Amino acid sequence: HKCLALIKSTKLLNAYITVAEETALKQAEESEERYRRGQPLGVLDGIPVAVKDNFNTAGIETTCASNMLKGYIPPYNATVVQKLQDQGAVLLGKTNLDEFAMGSGSTDGVFGPVRNPWSYSRQYKEKSAPKSDPEHEEFKWVITGGSSGGSAAAVSSFTCFAALGSDTGGSTRNPAAHCGVVGLKPTYGLISRHGLIPLVNSMDVPGILTRCVDDAAVVLGSLAGHDPKDSTTIQDAFQPFELPNMPDVSKLCIGIPKLSSVATDNPKQEYNAPGLSSEILAVWSKAADLFKNAGAKVIEVSLPHTPYSIVCYHVLCTAEVASNMARFDGLEYGHRSDVNESTESMYAATRQEGFNDVVRGRILSGNYFLLKQNYEDYFVKAQKVRRLIANDFVKVFRSGVDILLTPTTLSDAVPYIEFIKEDNRTRSTQDDILTQAANMAVFSQLITGGEDTAQSCVRFIASLVCILLELSEIPCWQ
Ligand code: GLN
Repeated sequence: HKCLALIKSTKLLNAYITVAEETALKQAEESEERYRRGQPLGVLDGIPVAVKDNFNTAGIETTCASNMLKGYIPPYNATVVQKLQDQGAVLLGKTNLDEFAMGSGSTDGVFGPVRNPWSYSRQYKEKSAPKSDPEHEEFKWVITGGSSGGSAAAVSSFTCFAALGSDTGGSTRNPAAHCGVVGLKPTYGLISRHGLIPLVNSMDVPGILTRCVDDAAVVLGSLAGHDPKDSTTIQDAFQPFELPNMPDVSKLCIGIPKLSSVATDNPKQEYNAPGLSSEILAVWSKAADLFKNAGAKVIEVSLPHTPYSIVCYHVLCTAEVASNMARFDGLEYGHRSDVNESTESMYAATRQEGFNDVVRGRILSGNYFLLKQNYEDYFVKAQKVRRLIANDFVKVFRSGVDILLTPTTLSDAVPYIEFIKEDNRTRSTQDDILTQAANMAVFSQLITGGEDTAQSCVRFIASLVCILLELSEIPCWQ
């Protein structure tokens, strides 16, 4: 009840697209009953959670924040949604996003932009313009980042304990960073993608957003594991783990991608991307110091091909989008245009009415890259570059590095008014410059021979977040 009340009082944030009040109350009652009988279903029994609106939820509208899917009620649950419910979690509703998860601001969905809860914190108000500024109320609020901004805002404003996001280039990590919550992009293959409406199948992973690292580990333990409905999931059994109170990092080797002192001179500089703010640089080196002080070995490493990940992503993402979006033709799902002179004109009108310009732009670019005369020059080359990027990671991890330490975003969350000034089509991918390469490098396929590599990758990342958390305060927005 408290969560549902809080969702109502924080409506301004626009974090939720659908609030499943009735089912949530029913699930909560059932959970209470199970506790009364002393038979809780699992570790998440009774825990209120939210799910990004690009995961299928049986009987609950799933829109991808698009006109194309408005009114679409899936007949089945995504595997991750089912697993949450099998553990007894209470599904509060579906969270806002950029249309079809294409974006990095959560500003581009048909239900309007998501507002960052921190915009209403005392600290932010003190920093921003005085109330007399006519723009103040409407425009001085900052974005959540995206595309899982609704999930990040939902966790950050305490309306739920955990939320699912998705991450293809940074969509879980980016809004988590901007909203001051924990965002985990699991290793590709660790969690099933079945029922996650695809953006880029070869890079998509369900992401986890929570208030603290321990919660992320618990949710991960409930979701990870092989799924016969997703052939890319890892076959090895996943052992849920508990994080120690004080993680021992003294035996870890932390790699910091090469950093030159001049940030903007050379666009090819690894991870020292143009636009990286001095504040982020300072936090980055502070995090490295925390590791050093805790006894870890911190070394500089080189990932020479990672600066190409954004341009490479542009080709691979749009190619997969062109193919994925072909299913939205007005026949099987969601929207169908009234135009009916011919089948072709119905297809065209449906897609014109159903998709925003970002989605349509990507479909066009992707089909261009896939044309017979362009395929070798673009798609095949991008695949080769992807392999080089992935190999960079393999080399570094094989050299004995356990964790790579990098920032997530280039700067703090920017005000909405500034964010929308720029061309969203460029911005939506440029913003992922620090996170994208990890999605290119599909570890499960690349690191071979380790008995439980996927699991140890996750553990290392988790302990890393533990340490980083010392740098930030847990948000408190009311
Ligand atoms: N920002 C990237 C894009 O627009 C990645 C989005 C994502 O991770 N879902 O494609």
